[in-house]
Amino acid sequence: MTLTTTRALDELKQVSAELFDLGRIAELLEWDQETMMPPKGVPWRAEQLATLKGILHERLTAPRVGDLLKQVEDEGGQLSDVDAAIVREMRRAYDREVKLPAELVRELARATSEALATWRRARAEASFALFADDLARVVELKRQVAEHVGYRAEPYDALLDEYEPGMTAAELETMFANLRAETVALLDEIRRAPRQVDRSVFEREYDLDAQWRFGQEVLRWIGYDFEAGRQDKSTHPFCTHFGTGDVRITTRLHPRDLGQALFGSMHEGGHAMYEQGIGPSVQRSVIGSGVSLGVHESQSRLWENCVGRSRAFWEYALPRARELFPSQLADADVDTVWRAANKVEPSFIRVEADEVTYNLHIALRFEVERKILRREVETKDLPTLWNESMTQMLGITPANDAEGVLQDIHWASGLVGYFPTYSLGNLYAAQIWAAIGRDLPDRDARIAAGDFGPILAWLRDRIHQHGGTYLPADLIERATGERPNARYLSAYLRAKYAAVYGFAAS
Ligand code: ZN
Repeated sequence: MTLTTTRALDELKQVSAELFDLGRIAELLEWDQETMMPPKGVPWRAEQLATLKGILHERLTAPRVGDLLKQVEDEGGQLSDVDAAIVREMRRAYDREVKLPAELVRELARATSEALATWRRARAEASFALFADDLARVVELKRQVAEHVGYRAEPYDALLDEYEPGMTAAELETMFANLRAETVALLDEIRRAPRQVDRSVFEREYDLDAQWRFGQEVLRWIGYDFEAGRQDKSTHPFCTHFGTGDVRITTRLHPRDLGQALFGSMHEGGHAMYEQGIGPSVQRSVIGSGVSLGVHESQSRLWENCVGRSRAFWEYALPRARELFPSQLADADVDTVWRAANKVEPSFIRVEADEVTYNLHIALRFEVERKILRREVETKDLPTLWNESMTQMLGITPANDAEGVLQDIHWASGLVGYFPTYSLGNLYAAQIWAAIGRDLPDRDARIAAGDFGPILAWLRDRIHQHGGTYLPADLIERATGERPNARYLSAYLRAKYAAVYGFAAS
């Protein structure tokens, strides 16, 4: 590589580091908005975010960045995997962003910041009408984004590509059709199973302070580093990261549900441990965080479901839980609690759904979002479409908008085309879990002994440290020895629920 190209690469990496910083500052403002900010701060925060995202946009789309990229690409020669990935992702971000007018970027930041505040009020009052105008504005701006970015088949692809590079709506349609068919068949077997599951042990009165302590202890067990993060409360649990040394999570507590905060904490902890494990060679760059939302979700679902809802986990966790909740858990044995943690039942709220019906919640959102973007439904008619789809897919009808169309924060934040990455996460998680099982034959015994270190070490080595160096499907192949394959999720679900409900696995 010539000296000029080496200098161009260094300058490009400097821009990549600054973009990382600006992005994290925006996330800090958003974290504060969700956890600490007083209600009257909304209009100020909206302007601050609009200004900051405008600066980020200008920095990324400066003509100088285009020149640097061209120079490095033209005579790049031998780049390391990490440098090649930084150039690849800078190119991707630049090409995408350069197509967006700065005013659209600022307007979207303003609109979503305001929509978040409206959504929170609308959800509290279970009234979609309060939120309809703000949502229509966000959706219109997202349509404009899709038109500017461009797509081959449909606008959905342009938005999806931001979260899961390379994935298309057509591929998802096939994936969801298969998942739906398998889910319906499995649900049918569960319904006819000889042994039904009683969840009442989770639904007793659980002291909120003790629940909070329990969640924090479990996070320590599994390896979340409180020196590099903190946990707070918010309306909707989330994880946000400002760099490997500061990865924060939030949770919400329910007085009559031990599972909500516990599994929520393990879920967000899984996201956070991914970010806490990003390796030094990729930190503070455009590839200095999780590679895609699908892979990110694989980390959260793995800890929440494969670990947290396993029988082995409750062998270890129940004695401690009994110390914190002696009267509630006095009569509960490991099998009762483990089965209760895995009760399958159609329910309204996605984040509380069991692992079997969960993907139906995502399939529903995928179909609704596609209709919105194709203008096949008007914003004001969304509650009706939602409730009809829910009845059709899960056989239950929400009593109000809070447990229906208003339950998730995503659309208010402008995250349209994001939901499918949750199902991809389930798919990847099952494949990764199978690979861990092959590499650590005593995996379950270790969990039962409270030794979670080897699982985290495996994930650090195969997934976390690489950040965005490898594209999602390549990363999964490097980690597990195989391209992403949906059969692992089917096999995992069948085996698990056969054990829980007592029917033959095959
Ligand atoms: Zn998640």
